[in-house]
Amino acid sequence: MEKKNIDWQNIGFGYMKTDKRFVSSYKDGAWDEGALIDDDMITMSECACVLQYAQTIFEGMKAYTTEDGRIVVFRPDLNAERLANSAKRMEMPVYPEDKFVDAVLKVVKANEAYVPPYGSGATLYLRPYMFGINPVIGVKPADEYQFRVFSTPVGPYFKGGIKPLTIRVSDFDRAAPHGTGHIKAGLNYAMSLHAIVSAHEEGYDENMYLDAGTRTKVEETGGANFLFVTKDGKIVTPKSGSILPSITRRSLMHVAKEYLGLETEEREVYLDEVKDFAECGLCGTAAVISPVGKIVDHGREICFPSGMDDMGPVTKKLYETLTGIQMGRIEAPEGWLRVVE
Ligand SMILES: *Cc1c(COP(=O)(O)O)cnc(C)c1O
Repeated sequence: MEKKNIDWQNIGFGYMKTDKRFVSSYKDGAWDEGALIDDDMITMSECACVLQYAQTIFEGMKAYTTEDGRIVVFRPDLNAERLANSAKRMEMPVYPEDKFVDAVLKVVKANEAYVPPYGSGATLYLRPYMFGINPVIGVKPADEYQFRVFSTPVGPYFKGGIKPLTIRVSDFDRAAPHGTGHIKAGLNYAMSLHAIVSAHEEGYDENMYLDAGTRTKVEETGGANFLFVTKDGKIVTPKSGSILPSITRRSLMHVAKEYLGLETEEREVYLDEVKDFAECGLCGTAAVISPVGKIVDHGREICFPSGMDDMGPVTKKLYETLTGIQMGRIEAPEGWLRVVE
């Protein structure tokens, strides 16, 4: 397989059209077979439910080349399950989980020339998504849907080296109690755009959102879950019904316990106790873990002992172990890597 002539190191995180994408349509109560197609454009009614009432959900995952030259996808069964949960909450039809995994593998196979080589740090980002497509003007769910998967190569996350983030405690809320914070819906991102633009304008990399009910507990950022390390080396992650269950965070908790022998805890984390942690990181598919060096709460600075130059030692160990598993340098737990053949 001849690779595309792409400067893998310098592609950044942007959309690049690849050769094939998967589309399946839902109509009259059933999904069709679905197919790989060339056309990257979508034509729909001006009154499509997705355009008027934002009935859309998505997933994000990566395919990449391991040390021994296999192309793999990391735990796609969990993305399939999460999309199914998102669909139920949004009154959308579930796309069968086994067919989801098949569709993802087919898209990777069809765009193999865009899967970056081992060692480049770049990956093929996969975006499965589903939306209501027929005209809807009275508020109700659509009757017709499309499930799609496209792929786009993305560059290494830590290009200029690892740089700890500075984040602020946001005055905006991300998700209401009993709302949609726990599903991966476009609407959660639409309402975060103002918060992230204003955070950037004020010199912060990200927003730390608190629980909207009491504004005392740590939830997550716009697109990543928090992991904290206590001074005695325990891994703590916030528990809340309005946090998106990150697959990376769940995998890191497993790695902490089973590979590194660390104690792990998922519990409510109060903003007041954050100053006592030794390390802080953000977990998600894009970076695996990005270290946080400083959190600013309305002028009060919380500076982690790990500093602004590098990852803390425990964060680094977690990062190296999980990326080692993903890249095939460390044996993966059963079922974590799906090989594209
Ligand atoms: C996608 C997402 C994450 C990260 O989840 P991963 O499965 O690890 O990529 C975290 N928080 C939010 C709000 C997200 O949308």
